[in-house]
Amino acid sequence: MGHSNDLEPSFRSHSPGYWPESVMPHWDDATWQLKNRVSTLAALEERLTLTDEERAGVLLAGNKLAMSITPHFFNLIDAQNPDCPIRRQVIPRIEEGWDAPEEMADPCGEDSHMPVPGLVHRYPDRVLFLVTDRCASYCRYCTRSRVVSGVGDQHLETQWEPAFRYLEQHTEIRDVLLSGGDPLLFSDAKLEKILARLRAIPHLQFLRIGSRIPIFLPQRITPELCTMLQKYHPLFISIHTNHPRELTLEVKQGLERLANAGIPLGNQSVILKGVNDSVEVQKALVHKLLMCRVRPYYLYQCDMIRGSSHLRTPVSRGVEIIDGLRGHTTGYAIPQFVIDGPGGGGKIPLNPNYIVHRDPDKTVLRNYEGEIFEYPEPSPIPASELLRLRDQATSSCGAH
Ligand SMILES: *Cc1c(COP(=O)(O)O)cnc(C)c1O
Repeated sequence: MGHSNDLEPSFRSHSPGYWPESVMPHWDDATWQLKNRVSTLAALEERLTLTDEERAGVLLAGNKLAMSITPHFFNLIDAQNPDCPIRRQVIPRIEEGWDAPEEMADPCGEDSHMPVPGLVHRYPDRVLFLVTDRCASYCRYCTRSRVVSGVGDQHLETQWEPAFRYLEQHTEIRDVLLSGGDPLLFSDAKLEKILARLRAIPHLQFLRIGSRIPIFLPQRITPELCTMLQKYHPLFISIHTNHPRELTLEVKQGLERLANAGIPLGNQSVILKGVNDSVEVQKALVHKLLMCRVRPYYLYQCDMIRGSSHLRTPVSRGVEIIDGLRGHTTGYAIPQFVIDGPGGGGKIPLNPNYIVHRDPDKTVLRNYEGEIFEYPEPSPIPASELLRLRDQATSSCGAH
């Protein structure tokens, strides 16, 4: 699975990789990266020898979820390895064309929880605000592939003014999560307009942005962006990374700029077959995340989106991964494994079972090494003891 050195806690640069040395003056320019994305079969085949499964996948992807890969991210692909964990995340495969019977266009039931197009209000106190349908690159397992990338039948039609009005009127909302698509694809000016508008609503205590731009396009994390963002605190950012190979030197530096702007960073990963479905890869990932000042937040079971069966793993795998982390590494490094309840249940936590037995008097537990411990319930204080202590207190008071 990938290069053996993928699991080492080191940060490398991979530029220019598949591009000629002559592009280097433009490499750190986010606009150049976006303009030079790999988004056609021809551009892909110029650089990589595709398998038949991939070539068919690219041809089928055109009217479902577009292919688009930034040069920065493309460089992480190991040309020698058809099972490269980077490759599986962004290059379509033939299996995407098959919809398993359990799969759905909208597995998390978002469309039915939208009081205003673009605004998902599932939990009482917080909303998910879908502000764009575009990303720097497209993940093949995108939970919003029904609307993201703009090539499918369904389109995201964010209604800005009605959405802001809804947020103003619903004083129970204290937390707004900007997502999409990727909000950091907006210009600083456009993003600032949205943040300023939200900050003008007094009951919104907390803002956050979900973005994979720090991973796909670290060049976008400019000092100017960070200076703008830090005016809107408390502002958190959740990034999305799945494999330690994605944490390059450029990515680490971008994350440090965000952290230095006082933005707490969390990571969301999706367990993907052949990418990161092992304790070994997950452990290497979370250790590198801590080195980048990112706290692992959620580890997701892959949503039942159409054409995802080749990437989805048994639910037991996620539990095994958490079991292999808890106690075996830093507590801060351990994400919460969740399943987003199909049809709209919200995030449901799944944990290894540490309870061996429970009765009214005690709980019998196992620790991370399998040792057994018994924790008795607190004993009620006997009435006779209370009386004795009261007498003792009275007599010590008289001694003064
Ligand atoms: C994930 C999600 C949130 C945020 O959930 P947290 O557990 O607070 O991070 C809010 N709304 C929707 C619809 C979500 O899917």
